[in-house]
Amino acid sequence: MPNTVPPPPIEQRSTPQLVEALCLELRHVGVGDYALPNAPDVIAHIRDVQRIHAELEKRQVDLHKRIAQLSAETTWQIHELLRDCLAFPKVTPYVKESDGIRRALRCNRCQQREMPDRKGIWLCDVCLAGALHSVESRTPEDGFVLFRTYNPSKWCEHADADTVLLSLDGDDWIDGGYCRICLSQEQQRRTHGTANALVAVGDAMDGAWEILTEAEVGTAWDRFYAEFNFRPSVHPQDWPGIKEPTPSTTYSISSVYRAMSKYRVLENDLDVKALGALQKCVAQEKRLYALDWQHPCYWLYPHRFLDAHSPQAWKVPVLPNGDYYIFLAEDFSFGLFGHPWEQTICVFGQVLLNALAQDMPLLFAKPVRRDGKES
Ligand SMILES: [Zn+2]
Ligand SMILES: [Zn+2]
Repeated sequence: MPNTVPPPPIEQRSTPQLVEALCLELRHVGVGDYALPNAPDVIAHIRDVQRIHAELEKRQVDLHKRIAQLSAETTWQIHELLRDCLAFPKVTPYVKESDGIRRALRCNRCQQREMPDRKGIWLCDVCLAGALHSVESRTPEDGFVLFRTYNPSKWCEHADADTVLLSLDGDDWIDGGYCRICLSQEQQRRTHGTANALVAVGDAMDGAWEILTEAEVGTAWDRFYAEFNFRPSVHPQDWPGIKEPTPSTTYSISSVYRAMSKYRVLENDLDVKALGALQKCVAQEKRLYALDWQHPCYWLYPHRFLDAHSPQAWKVPVLPNGDYYIFLAEDFSFGLFGHPWEQTICVFGQVLLNALAQDMPLLFAKPVRRDGKES
């Protein structure tokens, strides 16, 4: 690796340098936004935007003209991108194209509307309803291909050779198909996703998550820093992020970011199996720590947690998609440590290792260290 000289600290750079650095970071975000919200490298650029912008604001720099120029250069709506970067992680900064549609959410079929997120089928609600109608009535519609096939590689999980499948009309290729079950499940996910979010806002949960008091937060983190020698850092030379205990196994989870279409399946599998394992390690009505670095932290009562299959229900996620997420026994004897930048999860404590081994998450295919040593 060549030694690159790191740029001087933000406060020491000149204003014109910082304005250009801000534009460069915004470009990075714009180019990489497809992978959000689970892309550590893009998130690092968003954080840079936030830091540089804070300094420019301190210097009372008027960015209007330069941002407008960047919008013209890129045909992206950069003012809004900047605003969304500053609101991250509440808002996911997806680039808006000149017609106001967020590029990463543009419907693959009509190209005129947005899908709600990138987690499911890449169609807007209108086209999704059209697809379902098309499959159910067996009526071909523009932009869709209806087919049955003997090729299992084109089947969804529900299909056989008799199933009517639908895919986008890609002219020169046939994508894997969706059956009517796939399509109606996706509709349900969209409705229930909204419903779940509303429930979360009203906090009418099942009592599985209980926010830590300030004192509890202080105690938990002080002890975690001390016992695990926790060193949060984006720099590889500082990894692993903790002194990994014996016994422990650390898995690379980077494959989840390359498996765009399977992301939801893999995350779901990890959530459900991690919860199952934690339930085996924690007695009924007992709790464990769910720590989110520099964010609200919780007690998790694993036996009360009924909607683990729904990613929105995890107040602290298992998959470290942008922050350090830690699940930790109340006595610190076992747990999961998710490192967002190394893209690893360290499982420690024999009882949890055993419990997970009974039903291994698909993502835990590649151990990179055991007991803190490279394997
Ligand atoms: Zn559409
Ligand atoms: Zn299906």
